Amino acid sequence: MVAKPAGIPEEIKHYINGEFVDSASGERFDILEPTTNSNYLTAPLGGQEEANAAVAAAKEAFDEGTWANMLPRARWKILNAIADEVEKINDELAQIESFDTGLPIRQARGQANRAAENFRFFADLIVANEDKAFSMPGRQLNYVNRKPHGVAILITPWNTPFMQESWKLAPALASGATVVLKPAEFTPVSASLWPGIMERAGVPKGVFNIVYGDGQTGDMLVTHPDAPLVSFTGSLATGKKIFERSAPYMKHLSLELGGKSPAIIFADADFEAALDSTLFGVFSLNGERCTASSRLLVERPIYDRFVEAYAERAKKIVVGPPSDPTSEIAALVHPEHYEKVTKYIEIGKSEGRLVAGGGRPAHLPEGNYVEATVFADVAPDARIFQEEIFGPVVAITPFDTEEEAIKLANDVEYGLAAYVWTNDIARAHNVSHQIESGMVWINSHNVRDLRTPFGGVKGSGLGHEGGYRSLDFYSVQQAIHVTLGEVHTTRFGATGYADNDLGLGGPSA
Ligand code: ADP
Repeated sequence: MVAKPAGIPEEIKHYINGEFVDSASGERFDILEPTTNSNYLTAPLGGQEEANAAVAAAKEAFDEGTWANMLPRARWKILNAIADEVEKINDELAQIESFDTGLPIRQARGQANRAAENFRFFADLIVANEDKAFSMPGRQLNYVNRKPHGVAILITPWNTPFMQESWKLAPALASGATVVLKPAEFTPVSASLWPGIMERAGVPKGVFNIVYGDGQTGDMLVTHPDAPLVSFTGSLATGKKIFERSAPYMKHLSLELGGKSPAIIFADADFEAALDSTLFGVFSLNGERCTASSRLLVERPIYDRFVEAYAERAKKIVVGPPSDPTSEIAALVHPEHYEKVTKYIEIGKSEGRLVAGGGRPAHLPEGNYVEATVFADVAPDARIFQEEIFGPVVAITPFDTEEEAIKLANDVEYGLAAYVWTNDIARAHNVSHQIESGMVWINSHNVRDLRTPFGGVKGSGLGHEGGYRSLDFYSVQQAIHVTLGEVHTTRFGATGYADNDLGLGGPSA
């Protein structure tokens, strides 16, 4: 087994009500290191007892009110203290994350700084936030009383785990929610850094809780009646289950699911820029990213040239150990995921023309390594065109007209992101507007502005987060209506009353 980096904990325990605890059942699950798939650590498998205890702790902390009722500026200070703590561990986190997830170390760097920025950003939003009041002069005043909603269950995936956790923790805590975090079972190690960070930053006991476990553990949290909110990022299949399982409780859901995002490259595009961006878009982070540009739709006049140039570059992408700074693709997260990705590559061999990669690199006989794999001439009904692979595999398809490009882009179950490459400004916007996706980047790779909406349509999710939308998800916006003048009520049971005040409201009421 390869040497563990400094900072990997000796043991992992749940964190419930400010205490580190094991599962009552004593059950634990294995954590594998993806270059050898050896088991290097275990984590406790949360059961019903831990789900109950964590939700009870979060509910008690919420009801007690210190966190929920804290003035925004006081919460701002704690959120910024969290960010300070997170920034301090930037190097250590990169090592841990790269070791546990198999991400190339160069791409793991900076994750903590991005995570810290999430806390600073939402801290700033809550002190700047304003809610509306609606006046009917002399008669009625209506205003929004924003208040935190309650206990939020945060269920997170295994790709860039710490950063994804921060993307939920920051707006939830900023809004005054108390939380139970359930990190993904493939990559729970970096999550074990949160309790120390929260304690050092001064987060009160019970506000932040963490329960490790698998899908069953997640389900116990999702179906807990005392937690009204669930924010989930993961696969479409699991998203559907969570939707169904939480329906009897009428939970408020934010679901960020998968993608099969197209990049449409018109013949007039900046060829080199499109090439660089679409290579990085699907092969960075081992292709394990929900917004990956995993389908390239290329206009016929440049199709052959693009496929050839793309394949040439893909063949030169360096696959190597996560710890090696020259690695551009490293090891996929887990052998189960490796199986899934390599199965799709085999399917692809009968669905498209393999022009680069195609399996395990010869120089890496063990571990979850896959070459940058490119299929050209892929038909729109191919499985590798339709299904999310979540690995370093891309499908390229030609098109002849704008209409055809839009149809190809939309003809999948997902609708998360899209990328449009053209120098025709009107076409860039018109095509973008017709794409069924939550986000479009024009002549740009995936650069996130935290103020913009993040989320998908169709099979890619439910609800939009980002900026104030995230705060809205974790808050109740209660409408308060107050009469200022005389009360005009239709007088049931009295005689001779006028019918002109039926209480139906409206600005002219
Ligand atoms: P993937 O299929 O890519 O591994 P999942 O969507 O299964 O992704 O996992 C994302 C997160 O959802 C993980 O934390 C996982 O434990 C959790 N999870 C899986 N199944 C369920 C479920 N039925 N209810 C709640 N959480 C679940």
